[in-house]
Amino acid sequence: MLKLENVSKFYYNKGIIATGFTKVSLELKIGEFIVITGESGSGKSTLLNVISGLDSYEEGEMYINGKETSHYTKKDFEDYRRKYIANIFQNFNLINSYTVYQNIELVLLLNGYKKHDVKKKILNIIDQVGLTKFKNTKVSKLSGGQKQRVAIARAVIKDTPIIVADEPTGNLDSESAKDVIEILKKVAKDKLVVMVTHNIEQVEKYATRIIKMNDGRIIENIELKKVTNEPAKQENIYNNISIFNKYRIGIRNTFNIKSKFLLLFAVFFFISAAILLEYASFQMSEEEKVDSGYSLAFRDLSENRILINKKDKTNFSTEDYEKIKELSNVDYIVEDDIFLDSQMPLQRDEISLYGNMLDINNLKGNIDLGRMPQSENEMILKIRSDNYYANSNYDEILNKTFSTLKSQGLNAWSGEKVKDLIIVGIQYAENNESNYACKFYVSNSVLAELRSEVNKNYSNVKIFFNNKYQQYTLEPNDKVTRGNAIVDDEFKYQFKNYKIINKPINIYVSNIYYNAELNLNISNTYTKSNFKRITSLNTYDTNRYKIFINTDDYNSLYNKPSYQSSVFVKDVNEINQTINQLENLGLTAKKVTDFKVEQGEIYQRIIKVIKVVVTIVLVIVLFFISYLIIRIILKSRNIYYTTLRMLGATYKNVRRILDIELFVNSSLSYCVLLFTIYMIRNNMFNIEYIAKLSNFLTLKEYVLMYVILIIISRLISKKFAKKLFRKTAIDTYNEEV
Ligand code: ADP
Ligand code: MG
Repeated sequence: MLKLENVSKFYYNKGIIATGFTKVSLELKIGEFIVITGESGSGKSTLLNVISGLDSYEEGEMYINGKETSHYTKKDFEDYRRKYIANIFQNFNLINSYTVYQNIELVLLLNGYKKHDVKKKILNIIDQVGLTKFKNTKVSKLSGGQKQRVAIARAVIKDTPIIVADEPTGNLDSESAKDVIEILKKVAKDKLVVMVTHNIEQVEKYATRIIKMNDGRIIENIELKKVTNEPAKQENIYNNISIFNKYRIGIRNTFNIKSKFLLLFAVFFFISAAILLEYASFQMSEEEKVDSGYSLAFRDLSENRILINKKDKTNFSTEDYEKIKELSNVDYIVEDDIFLDSQMPLQRDEISLYGNMLDINNLKGNIDLGRMPQSENEMILKIRSDNYYANSNYDEILNKTFSTLKSQGLNAWSGEKVKDLIIVGIQYAENNESNYACKFYVSNSVLAELRSEVNKNYSNVKIFFNNKYQQYTLEPNDKVTRGNAIVDDEFKYQFKNYKIINKPINIYVSNIYYNAELNLNISNTYTKSNFKRITSLNTYDTNRYKIFINTDDYNSLYNKPSYQSSVFVKDVNEINQTINQLENLGLTAKKVTDFKVEQGEIYQRIIKVIKVVVTIVLVIVLFFISYLIIRIILKSRNIYYTTLRMLGATYKNVRRILDIELFVNSSLSYCVLLFTIYMIRNNMFNIEYIAKLSNFLTLKEYVLMYVILIIISRLISKKFAKKLFRKTAIDTYNEEV
């Protein structure tokens, strides 16, 4: 069966060569019961490990069924071990967290047997080693003798032709030792048993041959009984472990050690929480930036523009303006300077013009076409002379009615018309002006009317409905009384017992100029059938899900006077003197160009890039931290996985089983995290900041985080398995014991 010719084993350790054994020649037949003795350090264990294919050899030749093995690869030895070898160790190498039954079952599952096929066989062998009473007991609770009987059962049930036992009685008292050897002899008849022991008397009556080793050499080889007829060679027939059993073992491993389970669980939990919250706070700061309006502010960056406020942030009076106008370098004042920085569309059928609404009194020079306005809804258009409509096609716009549109907030315009204006005159702008936008010169009263639309367009609106931030649209309606709101009947499902009447709605409006707050009560709900009666509107379908509030309430949010104006100077070279003069009038005055660098788009973009980089770095750092922690936790599992390997699990098996374990753990942990966030959102825990942050996470982010988590756990199991299989099984095992 096995033949060794002058085989030697050396250990290379940091430049020092140690000898395991030298020039061993042996022949081993099926049916033999070989006992190896010798002093400690004489090379017995090394010899057994080489015979078992757990360790490599350096010199000579070992034959298996007449075949040379010196050219064998790791895979060949793995195959050999699965077909021929079952090991029994001095320290049992059982899985302590498994029961007796599970330990024996494991070796069969790893070798491709089906769970229900092996039950009888396992119970039978448990009976043979006398452990029926303990079949569902965890191995950690057994005595040494009982443990070794489990190990014997596990070795025998694999049904290989060779059983290799290294001092199986070394940790046992003499009574259990005798017991164990008897059982081994009984269940292992017709196999080749190679066993190391110090106690010859105990095994003498069973041994067919006794080999004595000293200093790495065989010094005695005495045949006690001749085994002539080697029975026909029998190989253990095995398959690969089934996917189902991989899952079974993986899931069993997830929970079998509580402390390990909880530790991994906590790591997964905090890593995903940290990444999600970091991402959310990044999103929130982006949003807040929009709140504060920086990204929308100051579109008109003319060199001759000065921004002025009163120090106490109150509105300007006519007297204030008169005083400013008296300054010699002041060309003109734009009182409502929000119009300088906000552009809006003017629409007529297919034609769309885009520009700033400005006071007709600030129009300079003569008009080139048409006439000056005579009524409030007439306007002058200032347009570049190279514009398509400025030339031969001016009749498509001159004396035509255009409409302003309704704002949807945050710089978006709906298709709904608000105010009709007739273009009665056109003034050409110079073509070299970098600004392509038009200028719409209208009467003061039109500006006042449009102001709330402009404010709205600048503003960020947050509606807290049922104490949660929701994205609904507000709509003014005269049928709603002040302080109340009317909402879609379907909203009631968001409330406990569908009780929606008298529940609060909180509205927050913010922009660069002001913050406004409005707290309302839900007074009624609308359905398709009562919609018209309640709102006086006909269009239920286009208005669904809107929140209707009183028109005055609505205007209180947006109809705010400006406390900031702009002064334009005649001579830019003297702008600093003018600023001094304005400050002497008790105003704060700043060149608009000063905001260009500090709050301009480039600056914002740099900030954004930095934040994205910080977020990515954080994710990577967290990734490695979690990786390291999990590696440390898994290190304690080295023995387990090495044992699996000794029992016949391949690299792929180990990797997949670990994959499943980490997958189950991380998924569970993630579910708990999601549930926690859900509870926080529903005010079951009072952590406002996190509830607020969670508003910035969508399904996409939750799914992405889950994918990241799965990738992390797969990378870890891959690396771990690779490391485990880099060395021989016995090296990995020794390293950790
Ligand atoms: P035994 O089982 O007979 O007590 P071993 O086979 O364990 O002896 O050891 C034989 C020799 O090989 C000893 O001198 C021991 O120091 C050496 N040896 C065993 N394992 C290693 C190892 N991993 N690295 C270096 N030397 C080793
Ligand atoms: Mg030994």
